[in-house]
Amino acid sequence: MTTDDTWQGFPAQEQHPPGLTGEMTPEPDHGEQSYVGHGRLNGLLAMITGGDSGIGRAVAIAYAREGADVVIVHLPEEQPDAEATLSWIERAGRRGFSVVADLTSAQACRNAISAAVERLGGLDVLVNNAGFHYTRNDRGTIDGLEPELVDRVIQTNLTATLWLTQAALPHLGPGASIINTSSIQAYDPSGNMVDYAGTKAAINSITANLAQQLGPRGIRVNAVAPGPIWTPLQPATRSAEEVSRFGSNSPLGRAGQPAEVAPAYVYLASPLEASYVSGSIIGVTGGLPTF
Ligand code: NAD
Ligand code: MG
Repeated sequence: MTTDDTWQGFPAQEQHPPGLTGEMTPEPDHGEQSYVGHGRLNGLLAMITGGDSGIGRAVAIAYAREGADVVIVHLPEEQPDAEATLSWIERAGRRGFSVVADLTSAQACRNAISAAVERLGGLDVLVNNAGFHYTRNDRGTIDGLEPELVDRVIQTNLTATLWLTQAALPHLGPGASIINTSSIQAYDPSGNMVDYAGTKAAINSITANLAQQLGPRGIRVNAVAPGPIWTPLQPATRSAEEVSRFGSNSPLGRAGQPAEVAPAYVYLASPLEASYVSGSIIGVTGGLPTF
């Protein structure tokens, strides 16, 4: 899929949120057969929210193959995806744990950090990656916004990032890092995800603010801004028609795979390779502009 220049889009399909990998056609590529580790994250302890599937699963596999132990956080409905990710972490010879949490409340975020630190025995890398949007039936346009969905978008993408970061800080020492998941929507919005795009622009601002605040403590804060990536979030929240042309607007002419995004998260987490990188946002967009 990733090198096929005759790519014609995805089969029309829909799921209920949060969506499951096994119900996608085709299933995404998380680097299971391709990612080769080089010890870049040897001995690090990482927590990845939304690590059960999609970009988070690809990051979990890459981190484990680079030598990190990994906690993934996921929703209860995502147990089958979480189990698959954990088995890849273990096959890489690392310790993998899962924490079930709905991160839309501050207390749940605090509890998730405590559980992760307890299982790992510490924390070096926090990847704030859980995210949600909803565009079916025009629910991402200003006329179609509904309070319940908007709250879910803001709490999952934005406030969870703040509460998880606050709770993680007492455990993070010099050399640790935080990596947030932004989006192309923060730069080049499609116009039908007004609430979601707003949260991702805010994540960019939070990333820059935290890099300033935490630099003196030796903690780096960065973000990755993916373009259209084939993950359960897409069939779970877009109409079948939108799904069928998902990614066709990128200059490379196709959606990306989670495996193509994970290396940016590895680089940013690496205390050696990214030691002077903080406050940066790396675009992985297939050519869409992130400036
Ligand atoms: P995904 O569905 O695989 O992952 C999203 C994860 O968020 C879910 O697996 C779920 O565990 C988690 N999540 C959602 N609501 C939650 C809640 N209330 N509590 C706890 N966890 C919750 O999809 P993905 O595309 O890999 O998404 C990962 C991140 O990438 C998100 O922040 C998303 O906004 C961002 N992103 C995705 C794309 C894309 O095209 N796929 C593009 C730009 C940014
Ligand atoms: Mg999932």
